[in-house]
Amino acid sequence: MKAAAYARYSTDKQTENSIAYQMSAITKYCLDRNIDLCATYSDEAETGTNTNRAGFQALVRAAERHEFDAVVVYDISRGSRDVVDWFAFRKAMKAAGVQVISTTQQLGDITDPSSFLTELVTAGLGQHMVLDTRKKSMAGMMERAKQGLYCGGRIPLGYNVEDGQYIINESEARIVRMIFQAYAAGESYPEILQRLAGKTTKRGRAFSKNSFHSILQNERYIGVFKWNEYNIHIMRKWAGGKKTDNPVILDGIIPPIIDKDTWERVQKRVKDNKRNAANKAKREYLLSGLIECASCGAAYVGHCSTNKRKDGSIRERRYYGCGNKYRSGACQSASINADELELFVVSHIKAAILDWDFDEIARDYADQINGAAPDCEAEKRELADVDAQIVNGTKAALSGVVFPELMKAMDELRGRKIELENIIAEKSAYKGERVKPEDVVAALRDITEEFEPRRAVRELVQKIYVNPDGSCTVHIGVHMTGNGLPKETNQRKGSSRGKKTLESGTLIFPP
Ligand SMILES: [Zn+2]
Repeated sequence: MKAAAYARYSTDKQTENSIAYQMSAITKYCLDRNIDLCATYSDEAETGTNTNRAGFQALVRAAERHEFDAVVVYDISRGSRDVVDWFAFRKAMKAAGVQVISTTQQLGDITDPSSFLTELVTAGLGQHMVLDTRKKSMAGMMERAKQGLYCGGRIPLGYNVEDGQYIINESEARIVRMIFQAYAAGESYPEILQRLAGKTTKRGRAFSKNSFHSILQNERYIGVFKWNEYNIHIMRKWAGGKKTDNPVILDGIIPPIIDKDTWERVQKRVKDNKRNAANKAKREYLLSGLIECASCGAAYVGHCSTNKRKDGSIRERRYYGCGNKYRSGACQSASINADELELFVVSHIKAAILDWDFDEIARDYADQINGAAPDCEAEKRELADVDAQIVNGTKAALSGVVFPELMKAMDELRGRKIELENIIAEKSAYKGERVKPEDVVAALRDITEEFEPRRAVRELVQKIYVNPDGSCTVHIGVHMTGNGLPKETNQRKGSSRGKKTLESGTLIFPP
């Protein structure tokens, strides 16, 4: 019997489930039973929601081609993420006429009622165990958190974790103190950056404005430990960032690096800066250049109106309005409240990118670019035709048929021949640039890792149309250039060839 092995691993599970571990168990199983293991497939899923498993897809295709008689998995719970997944896999294999073998369980025919029920219960118990473990580990984490013990996540610069306890890393702590003191003393970002020349963040990167911010606002530096304060993710999806009902907040449980006085001065400056930035941002129009009037085709432009209220205070409102309406009054399209539209767009792209399967986007994109390999067939055919005509004309001229029309036609043919040769040469030269999916994934991670609204809008919003009913259709997708890198990344690298956009969907902003 010929068989293929399939292993699956998600990083949120235990290491004993690793692909190497499953593969070695499968290999031993096959060896003991004289099963000829002819291929191995695996998926290393980073998140539980990754449904487009490349290894799994390849396995199904190979099964459909009858490259093997059976698929061996380690066990049901390792073979899939949940009950639904497992039976989808079973049905696909059944359809392909391929047997499924588990190294730890007896699997029957799923069309047999009692075998099906046994298997359903086994798969269900497996999923129950996973959910139960998750729940218990959450409870265990809560216990750890209450003792101020490390609960995972990034360890801040200035600390190490030993036996679950935060301890001060003195050489890093000196950098932290220097940043706080310089900032409290009113130094600018470039000045502080200069002081930090040659030093790196905890992750070994150069300091940036973003890394400063997370340092300057990290309460661990004054000894405050917080855990489970906000709902960030539920089942790997953006949960809105609302406060939870049961946060753990402990003061004085971590050794402080910064004194409270310096901390207060820094927080005051951070707050003032934020207020200034917010005032400035109020006048900025995040979406300008992206909005188009569906009625007349003009660009929407930002404008601000001020109303004096009865009590004398002034109220400012930002809008986007059709440019044509302002210029000539020719268009009657509705103006859109800028705060509402910007909030809508930013929060939706933020949620959308958490849902995106970067690997899938990267593969699609690479396929599009690489698949669009230059096709010079038409030019080559015409060139062959032109060549044949030139040969015939030359023959005619040699045989003594010489008249002006023929000579003129020959000149034109030679001209066209040069043109065609140039076109073919140019197109063939373009072929050199291939897109590597991993470059695309890296670039996408770069955009999303430190979410910055202005940048995300520039990279991910293609166009917004204001419809006649006052609603807006927002087209989101990834702008990329020929070598697979998003627009901005590419401009930094000085290349902008072959711009391309991957549309990933539309959002409707209510009227
Ligand atoms: Zn208009």
